[in-house]
Amino acid sequence: MTLSVLSSALASSASAAPAPGFSYPFVFGPFPKILSSNPAETLAQSRQNLEADPEIHAFLQDVRHQLSPTQSQDGSGVRTVKYQDTYHGLEVLGSMALHHEGPEGVQITDALSRFDLDVTPRLDPSEALSLVRARIGDRELQSVPELKILPRHDGSAELIYQISLKSTATAPGADLLVAANTGETIAELSHHWEIEPEMDPTPPTGRAKRKPVSPKLAVPLIDVYGANAKCQSLDEEGFPSSIQPSLCTAMAKSSQLKAAADEAGTQAFKNAQSVATYYAQIHGRNSFDNKGTRLVNVVHVGKEFANAFWDTEDQIMGYGDGDGVHFASFTRAADVAGHEMTHGVTSVTAKLMMMGESGALNEAYSDFFGKMISNDGDWVMGKKIFKDPNAQGIRNLKDPGSILARVSGGKDKVTKKPYPSKMSEEFPIQEPCDSSNDRCWVHLNSTIPSHASYLTAVAIGAENSEKLTYLTLTQYLTPAANFKDARDATLKACAQLFAAATCKKVEGAWSAVGL
Ligand SMILES: [Zn+2]
Repeated sequence: MTLSVLSSALASSASAAPAPGFSYPFVFGPFPKILSSNPAETLAQSRQNLEADPEIHAFLQDVRHQLSPTQSQDGSGVRTVKYQDTYHGLEVLGSMALHHEGPEGVQITDALSRFDLDVTPRLDPSEALSLVRARIGDRELQSVPELKILPRHDGSAELIYQISLKSTATAPGADLLVAANTGETIAELSHHWEIEPEMDPTPPTGRAKRKPVSPKLAVPLIDVYGANAKCQSLDEEGFPSSIQPSLCTAMAKSSQLKAAADEAGTQAFKNAQSVATYYAQIHGRNSFDNKGTRLVNVVHVGKEFANAFWDTEDQIMGYGDGDGVHFASFTRAADVAGHEMTHGVTSVTAKLMMMGESGALNEAYSDFFGKMISNDGDWVMGKKIFKDPNAQGIRNLKDPGSILARVSGGKDKVTKKPYPSKMSEEFPIQEPCDSSNDRCWVHLNSTIPSHASYLTAVAIGAENSEKLTYLTLTQYLTPAANFKDARDATLKACAQLFAAATCKKVEGAWSAVGL
């Protein structure tokens, strides 16, 4: 990403007092004002501004690339238009240009991928599929394999087929990214975004409680269901693979608790209320999608299932009852609920791909907002889901290394290593990214950016940091963002919200984790 625009913005804000309201010439000389309330005009003007950026201008001279606007958002006083890149008509995953317009002026984010690529795949879709079939069997596809481009951060790019698998009785739905020239699987991205707990004891750590802000918006309706044999199917390990809430036992409908609600159902209902209220009150967001969509929760999913997840396919949240040995019901922790439903927010905003560093960012944002939502005075995730009241939780944003993560060392030996708190401790990424390596360590490496979020909250206060992190996640990030991109995006968003001195502290927090 180019930071020239941001650097000039920060330099300008440092040298002069901010002008009131919109002040483009003050921050960004060459850009026209775009205060139009007419969406078509705004779009046209944002496009002109993009083309005024020399690097994007040069990019657009290459007629193999086309940019089309995908999303326009309002929030935190910043309007964002995202432009998706196609190359010879093929979607380039995560390659985007972003146009932001906020109190401090116009900003451009150039996350466009530059590469040369022959777009004729060696394998046709059916050949690629038959190679993949050896591994996935006769699983039903959600749609035909789609030829796309996966750019790499080293400047290369690869032709891939994105193959979407439907959920089955034994496995949740998933997206396979398969090399279109070799048929090799690069990643298998589950549609269940889990919290994936690990177990080990360390003492919790504290932070000051934050006062709630007065309500701004109505909250979405909440449904809670209890899973039963009719409405869910399980794999051989007892993991839930598909759920049909309408066939489950209704415990709450349209925000009304029913007589059938048991302890887990009641707790899930309260959790959903906390999450919905948090997003409405603090961020003016109506439900995970900002469209007021009902929050559907299913409790008792799986059999002795020690996990919770957000299902990106059905847009529902599932809670396991725990294994009964180490883990109790996952409904007991509001931070777990906040984590999962924040995955819902991410799935319709930044759409961070659940592999490698982009996946670790996805997990980190879920943990951060999980703690903001539970507001329980510490930075430890999921303490309450453990049967042992002294358990240390599943991740610790303040002191990541105090918790050991289970790193698979083969079938017979389980190796444990501390969660990383800086780049020098990052777990190396080795494809394919699948369930055998936590999809290239999405949960394990998440503590690097989530620790930066903790340090940011310490430096500028929890209220400021949640505002900044929300704006970054919903408007400034692109699906393939890596940690460095997230740092840059955060500083850009910061320039819209806070004075240069505050953003300097944010920069310090990221620099402390090696970014
Ligand atoms: Zn997660």
